Amino acid sequence: MREFIPQERLLLGAGPSNANPRVLRAMTQPLLGYLDSDFLQLLDDVRAMLKSLFHTHSDLTLAVSGTGTSGMEASLCNILEPGDLAIVAVNGFFGLRMTDIASRCGATVVQINTEWGRPVDPEAIKQELAKHRRVKAVALVHGETSTGVLTPLEEIADLAHSYDATYIVDAVTSLGGVDIAVDDWGVDVCYSGTQKCLGCPPGLSPITFGDRALQIINTRQTKPHSFYLDMALLGAYWASTTTRRAYHHTAPTSMLYGLREGLRIIFEEGPEQRVRRHQASAQSLRSGLEALGLKLFAENGYRLDSLTAVYIPDSIEDEPVRRALVKDYNIEIGGGLGELRGKIWRIGLMGENATHGNVLFLLSALEQVLNRFGSHLSLGNGVAAAERALVAYQASIA
Ligand SMILES: *Cc1c(COP(=O)(O)O)cnc(C)c1O
Repeated sequence: MREFIPQERLLLGAGPSNANPRVLRAMTQPLLGYLDSDFLQLLDDVRAMLKSLFHTHSDLTLAVSGTGTSGMEASLCNILEPGDLAIVAVNGFFGLRMTDIASRCGATVVQINTEWGRPVDPEAIKQELAKHRRVKAVALVHGETSTGVLTPLEEIADLAHSYDATYIVDAVTSLGGVDIAVDDWGVDVCYSGTQKCLGCPPGLSPITFGDRALQIINTRQTKPHSFYLDMALLGAYWASTTTRRAYHHTAPTSMLYGLREGLRIIFEEGPEQRVRRHQASAQSLRSGLEALGLKLFAENGYRLDSLTAVYIPDSIEDEPVRRALVKDYNIEIGGGLGELRGKIWRIGLMGENATHGNVLFLLSALEQVLNRFGSHLSLGNGVAAAERALVAYQASIA
């Protein structure tokens, strides 16, 4: 069999995004044992940078082995016990996944549905909280990658805490691209994934548990059903170098090398600067798409900078367009998930990829391909609009 050498593709879908070359290089460094003191130092470095990025003081901050879904599973299975009641607010595909996992933990799940494309409504959560004697957790997705919607977190945190419920937030597509302040905003459990806005390949899920969550972990009646994702055991391995660390499972060495380098790059750029870069490129992409004549999917005012969902124009077929973008321009964009399949495209500008150059390249390529498949569409000048939006953004922050 021949060596597998994939094409360099510009990954502007819903993830993975392109990793920084420095991250990929870090992953080729020699392996170390999982209890080697040099490797333990690396774990400390990763934790320190994750704490800073999450804006938390909690030492139960680490990277779970596995993709974003493993963080979702770890969050829910460490907080919920059989018989607990959990409220999961669903405004897209990943909220639905949370309900599935929460019910697999044996919890009774109350699902609060918000129309896809809109943020979670705090009022609906408030009403539901008032109906029950004891709610163990309120869970939702910060940036819904299936719809391109960002739900504001703080108001719901206050509501959850006023009923003594633990607040669990999915930040898979927001951490590293969108502002998040776990401690200040009252988020008790928060997890992410390395392949969205963190500029790394998929394979690790950064996660943090605050004091309220820690209290639950320490006093729960039953063990979490997952040994692999048991935070009490993982926390013991990741605990500070002064205590004795114990084997739990073999740490994915190279992935952690990559994450350390990815985080180092984030702090070189500066997390605030990085957020602004995501804002600038998202605003020019949205302006460009609208100027082309396309309609954005997510409600205005609640759009997620790292992922823009846009309606597929009438009479245009989804897959031929996406295939042509790959074949002729080496650009991947995402299709719709679940009920949105064939109805929207999802364009990710995550991590390394959130650049104005990528926006211009995508807009020009999309214009060419749409002209090919839909000669009846009278497309406007997307690139010029994106340029104007960039200038306007720069003026707004000057
Ligand atoms: C991608 C994603 C996940 C799942 O992450 P995987 O890495 O695919 O396991 C969960 N939640 C959100 C919001 C996501 O975007």
